[in-house]
Amino acid sequence: MIELGMETLPSHSDSSSLDVNPLSGLALLQKGCQQFGFDLTPAQLAQFQLFYEELVAWNQRLNLTAITDYQEVQTKHFLDCLAGLPILADALCESLPLTRPVHCVDVGTGAGFPGLPLKIAMPRLPLTLVDGTGKKITFLSQLVAKLGLKEVTLVQGRAEELGRDNAYRAQFDLVTARAVAPLNTLVEYLLPLLRREGLAMIYKGASAPQEFMEARKAIELLGGETVRLAPVQIPFLEEKRFILLIKKVKLTPNLYPRAQGLARKKPLG
Ligand code: SAH
Repeated sequence: MIELGMETLPSHSDSSSLDVNPLSGLALLQKGCQQFGFDLTPAQLAQFQLFYEELVAWNQRLNLTAITDYQEVQTKHFLDCLAGLPILADALCESLPLTRPVHCVDVGTGAGFPGLPLKIAMPRLPLTLVDGTGKKITFLSQLVAKLGLKEVTLVQGRAEELGRDNAYRAQFDLVTARAVAPLNTLVEYLLPLLRREGLAMIYKGASAPQEFMEARKAIELLGGETVRLAPVQIPFLEEKRFILLIKKVKLTPNLYPRAQGLARKKPLG
């Protein structure tokens, strides 16, 4: 396991050169955020612009994402990730932007989704980004430095190993994941990392209701209780998306997560 602490200082691109004409991706992003109930500052818009540029530049070598079109990155990546914010605020009985320092871990973050868009929108959120692949962590470490984000920790490791390590087990207020594993496997990765009363926020597509039915037993075994399975409408997109919120109501039994990849090979339930 490799952990990198990030305390690097900003090197923002010049926000006066931002492309904010009404049809541009950044205008889409701002309008979408307004639909969610908050505004991004020019500095935050500049961070998203830089995120886009770095993603596309590194993608040529690292195969980080299939989505590279400017507007699609704003909608299918940035707005899709930010769609969790109103749901989270509602669950915490807070308004946006959140100011409470909710300690978050994003598992299987890949190129930083959903963790980094959430962090840019809520800079006070201490964030740990976890991925099993070293090259993703290499990309993220330079990106986090370029974006000037503070209190971001990068960990190269497998979620099921972190869940058995006391430095990570039951340490977080919020765990997020998008496009990492089927739900009945994913909950065994995520729930051990939460402290009691912590929340798992899981991003899923149209298969969410079916996956949820197949994971109900696993959620209960791991100490979770479903708060809501919310259909979400991503601004400017048609497709059906869901966010599942699970609260940890009991500590996860020591048996979980199981070793030797059993969460994946033999899901609970
Ligand atoms: N969350 C990102 C990336 C999805 S791709 C997004 O929404 O775009 C899935 C990522 O999860 C990959 O980067 C893979 O390396 C990572 N991953 C899959 N299983 C994992 C595990 N058990 N532990 C840590 N990372 C994992």
